[in-house]
Amino acid sequence: MSGLGLYIHIPFCLQKCPYCDFFSAAYSDRAAYAYADAVIRNAEHYKERYDTVYFGGGTPSAAWRDVCRIVGKLKLADGAEITVEANPNTITRESLSWMKNSGINRLSVGVQSLSNAELRALGRSHTSEDASNSIKLALECGFKNISVDLMLGIPGQTPDSVRRSIKILTGLNITHVSAYMLKIEPNTPFARTANPPDENLTAQIYLAAASALEEHGFMQYEISNFAKKDRECRHNLKYWKSEEYLGIGAAAHSFYDGERFFVIGDVREFTKANIQQVIITEKRSADTAAGSFEEYAMLKLRLVEGLTFAECGGFGVGKDALLKRCRLVPPDYLRITDRGVAITQEGFLVSNQIINKLITEPAEQFLPT
Ligand code: SF4
Repeated sequence: MSGLGLYIHIPFCLQKCPYCDFFSAAYSDRAAYAYADAVIRNAEHYKERYDTVYFGGGTPSAAWRDVCRIVGKLKLADGAEITVEANPNTITRESLSWMKNSGINRLSVGVQSLSNAELRALGRSHTSEDASNSIKLALECGFKNISVDLMLGIPGQTPDSVRRSIKILTGLNITHVSAYMLKIEPNTPFARTANPPDENLTAQIYLAAASALEEHGFMQYEISNFAKKDRECRHNLKYWKSEEYLGIGAAAHSFYDGERFFVIGDVREFTKANIQQVIITEKRSADTAAGSFEEYAMLKLRLVEGLTFAECGGFGVGKDALLKRCRLVPPDYLRITDRGVAITQEGFLVSNQIINKLITEPAEQFLPT
């Protein structure tokens, strides 16, 4: 199934987490209502039909009434995947029932950890019991496709504690896990109070999480993403496969009509714009409909399936030239087959360096040989 993806940024949060540098704003009923009106106005302007929709934030579940209102106005393809990011402390039976009835069929729950000590260290406003109960409630309300966010490298976390969180979570009939490493961003309260995570320990935690998830039937398909069979996030796969998607909302990014652009992170500006969100063009793709080779390879190499030689050929990049670059990378970090090149689980720990080595050489290095 292919079609356009739609990302909608709902920036509102009930409170700001001390480690977070995402664009967000304080929730109020009034601000969320006006913002949703602007989202609807923009969605009508683009006149597209979507086969994946992703409400990210912020905390979209805090604005669930407005999220349902927006969904009701979208043109959707049959079988569209519609995901809403949700925080455990904003999930209620009422909100879940409304979201389910409006057609939302996938939840991404910000659990982060099932250790209360780790949740406190992160400054999250929910407990591990809140998190487990919110997932149970979502299952009771009929959600069959539930993803969970886990944080790796939390102060005080160990490989054993992450395995314990995963054991409890995977017993809850979820379908997908996103496991992100904590990054201490400058200009956050966390940067002033927390010590930077120990790199070796974080690497051990990542590998422990990956193997525990795989033991429980969640196969890795991207650096940070694991899914039960056929439960990969269809919307996010569009990003990594350089397929087009439209972003609506303050701070939303798009790859649409051959152009990469974004909207300024300003709720007031987005809400007052009369007809169409004001976009700032980052780049018009010169090479192919999927963008430049560098963009394409950088995203595709995040996937466990990696980059095929056939795909490289589509950009005029020869197999031998790519294999030559592979010699710059330690063999344990790459899996080279007849089809192409992929980064291994150990390699994912240093993926930025590997991808740089594979794609940032002068263009003539990549001419077909
Ligand atoms: S709920 Fe999410 S988006 Fe909001 S402040 Fe916390 S981490 Fe950031």
